[in-house]
Amino acid sequence: MANKAYRYGIMGGTFDPIHYGHLVAAEAARSKFNLDKVIFVPSGRPPHKSSTEITSPEHRYLMTVLATITNKYFEVSRLELDRSGYSYAIDTVRQFHQHYGADIELFFITGIDAIMEILTWKQVDELISECQFIAATRPGYGDQDVTKILPEKITKKILSISVPALAISSTDIRNRIISNEPIKYLLPEQVEDYIYKHKIYHTAPY
Ligand code: NAP
Repeated sequence: MANKAYRYGIMGGTFDPIHYGHLVAAEAARSKFNLDKVIFVPSGRPPHKSSTEITSPEHRYLMTVLATITNKYFEVSRLELDRSGYSYAIDTVRQFHQHYGADIELFFITGIDAIMEILTWKQVDELISECQFIAATRPGYGDQDVTKILPEKITKKILSISVPALAISSTDIRNRIISNEPIKYLLPEQVEDYIYKHKIYHTAPY
C-alpha cells in the first residue's frame, strides 16, 4: 500500500483524570512513529463502564484541554462527547477518515490493558482494517503477552511503546485524592488546580 501523506494518532482514553503517563505516551508515540499530530479523544460514554462510575464528560474534556495546551502537536476532539450513544472506536475511526479524507493513516493509541480486550470491541475486523494500534505498555508488561492472547491478524496491526511514566495511573490519582494524599508531580499543575477547584474525586462515585 502506498504511503499516505499524513499520519495522525488518535489517543483514546477515559482520561479520568489525564496524567503525565498519558502525555508521555502520546509524545513517545508521536516521535517514534513519525506522527504529524496526536488527537486526544476523551471517551464520551465508554461501553464497558457505567456512567455513574466516571466523571462528567465536560470535566474530563476540559482537563484534557488544559493538559495538552502547551504541545503544538497535540489537539483534543469532542467527537465522542458530542456523539450520542456508546463510544465505539470503530465509529470514531470512521468519522476521522470521513473528516480528513483518504490521504490519512490513522494510529489508535491506547493502553495495553485496553487493547488486550479488543476482541470484545464492536466490529473488530473492520476496525483493524481501518487503522493501526499503538499499545502503550506499563512497566512490567512485555510484548509477548499480546501475542499469546490475541490472534495474529490483530497482533500484526499492533505497534508498541514502553512508557515508564505509565507507572502513574488515573485510579491511583483518584484514590490519593479520597485519602488526602498528594497528587503533585503526577499530572500537570493546571489539571491539579482544576480538580481541587471543582472538588472532583473527593467522594466516590464521582
Ligand atoms: P480503561 O479500561 O479505563 O483503561 C485500561 C488501561 O489502559 C488502564 O490501565 C488505563 O490507565 C490505560 N489507558 C487508557 N487509555 C490510555 C492511553 N490513551 N494511553 C495510555 N494508557 C491508557 O480504558 P479506557 O480509557 O476506558 O479505554 C481506552 C480506549 O479504548 C478508549 O478510547 C475507549 O473508547 C476504547 N475502547 C473501545 C471499545 C469499543 O470500541 N467497543 C471498548 C473498550 C475501550 P489510566 O486509568 O491511567 O488511564
